[in-house]
Amino acid sequence: MHTHDVVVVGAGLAGMRAAIAAHEAGVDVALVTKVHPVRSHSGAAQGGINAALGNATDDSTDNHTFDTVKGSDYLGDQDAIEILCGDAPGEIIQLEHWGAVFSRHETTGKIAQRPFGGAGFPRTCYAADLTGLVILHTLYTVCVKYDIPCYEEYFVTELITDDHGGCAGVIAYDMVHGTVETIGAKAVVLATGGAGRVYAPSTNSHSSTGDGMSLALRAGVPLKDMEFMQFHPTTLNPSGVLVTEGARGEGGILLNKDGERFMSKYAPNKLELASRDVVSRAEATEIMEGRGVDGSVLLDLRHLGRDKIMERLPQIRELAMAFAGVDPIDAPIPIRPGAHYHMGGVHVDSWGAAPHMPGLFAAGECACVSVHGANRLGGNSLLEAVVFGARTGSAAAGFAQDFNGRGIQASPQDAIEYEAKLRELLDRPDGPKQWVIRDELADTMQEKVGVFRTGPELEEAKVTIDRLREQFKGVVVDDKGKTFNQSLIHVIETGFLLDLADTMVVGAIARTESRGAHSRTDFTERDDENWLKHTLAYLDDDSVRLDYSEVTFTKFEPQVRSY
Ligand SMILES: Cc1cc2nc3c(=O)[nH]c(=O)nc-3n(C[C@H](O)[C@H](O)[C@H](O)COP(=O)(O)OP(=O)(O)OC[C@H]3O[C@@H](n4cnc5c(N)ncnc54)[C@H](O)[C@@H]3O)c2cc1C
Repeated sequence: MHTHDVVVVGAGLAGMRAAIAAHEAGVDVALVTKVHPVRSHSGAAQGGINAALGNATDDSTDNHTFDTVKGSDYLGDQDAIEILCGDAPGEIIQLEHWGAVFSRHETTGKIAQRPFGGAGFPRTCYAADLTGLVILHTLYTVCVKYDIPCYEEYFVTELITDDHGGCAGVIAYDMVHGTVETIGAKAVVLATGGAGRVYAPSTNSHSSTGDGMSLALRAGVPLKDMEFMQFHPTTLNPSGVLVTEGARGEGGILLNKDGERFMSKYAPNKLELASRDVVSRAEATEIMEGRGVDGSVLLDLRHLGRDKIMERLPQIRELAMAFAGVDPIDAPIPIRPGAHYHMGGVHVDSWGAAPHMPGLFAAGECACVSVHGANRLGGNSLLEAVVFGARTGSAAAGFAQDFNGRGIQASPQDAIEYEAKLRELLDRPDGPKQWVIRDELADTMQEKVGVFRTGPELEEAKVTIDRLREQFKGVVVDDKGKTFNQSLIHVIETGFLLDLADTMVVGAIARTESRGAHSRTDFTERDDENWLKHTLAYLDDDSVRLDYSEVTFTKFEPQVRSY
């Protein structure tokens, strides 16, 4: 058995930033991750990270706060949003000092900033269209410099609960050797990323299966605002591969089959740079009403010219050529809305602490603080990962320092008990296949819990999820081996995805209004009187129970939201 003061599950931006902060606070911290740290999904982030540096404009953190509150459709907690935007410039400068190579303004030499959706000023810092990769590698080098231990290719399967309902560590499956280990801790930080793979297609990597959210849910911790799934307006058809919002930030325009720049009908002021929920609905409407091109609309970058495309959007050009057979220098790219980002997650406060389980913390996409409310602005998620990663890491370290010599209650027996459950699963000779269940789940979510929703379709989705949950109880693991048993990993992940889909659908059925990314055609208006509140989802014996909590307001009263 291993023990550490703080264990951070996940080594993307949020996890590594948390581990660095905990290390700097003077505790023994370790990372546990199912993929190598630089393979985390953060590395796929293209467009950039927001901070009101005001390098070329008189932007301010107040402007950033207002844009984020408005983008959230007033569901974000304004005290947390003030922290997000207030800490942003300092975090960017810290990343830069650690070695992140941001793109520079041609004449001033200062960090360059591009316009992004829903933002009143150009405030998105970027490294060409590889921003996440650059920051991920930067944080990794800091973790290596600090010699922070990392359990690579260890898959966390359960949280360990102590006698007082606190978190005492994790159970992890060593994917290389096929053994199960107890990793005890005074504090655990979940930083396991998003759950985009509940849907197909999705912009998310195959590892984005929402594990940490489900681990918390199963341990009795509620998930917040799970009905809010963001559909990104520009994903390639059919693969779902992302084309960054930076493409529109650099001047890309959207056209329908008649060559009409249709955003002028839906967002006359901000056009293509309205918030993501607005642009995705506009595209879905154009396609549904017959003005699409083979189930897509067109993203036209040709007028930017070869030089700008090669300098600012080189990866986008490669992706468009590889996955859509189109060179954007010569032809428009067929795109459509696709599942991208989860606004919901583990219910935590603005220090990342889960109020329902002492010693448990969460940060990054798996957490819901909530800074994104009903709709996240592009460039605010990498920011959330570093700002709240840092805060959560230091809060977890503080919790561990105050532990007062109480023994960590995890024991080797925890791993032995879990191993027995795994053996039972592996010994099962036959049963439903995980990929059949997973495909049907993802297709159902895509068809019935998409950009637009209606009560009857959500109810149908719920019936399917309940049936799939029953089937899953008999699921078979085809590979009985010990080394890199992907079949086993996929089965466990599918169980997590079923939990999360259930919370999303139950939350969506209950919320009889349209707000941000949750758009119901049977309840088309935002209903502040009844629904200006966060959803909390609990799991009681496989059944989702809902509760609600207050939204925090500081400066901004809800207004009509238009772009
Ligand atoms: C294609 C794409 C482009 C994006 N572009 C942008 C952008 O330009 N700007 C922006 O702000 N946001 C962007 N986002 C969103 C943003 O990248 C993510 O929200 C953010 O990077 C999430 O970081 P994270 O640290 O929370 O999780 P991740 O980077 O996803 O890391 C999750 C970590 O958890 C580990 N893990 C998961 N489950 C387990 C388990 N059971 N056991 C052990 N380890 C586990 C994984 O190994 C991994 O290390 C983009 C997202 C995508 C998918």
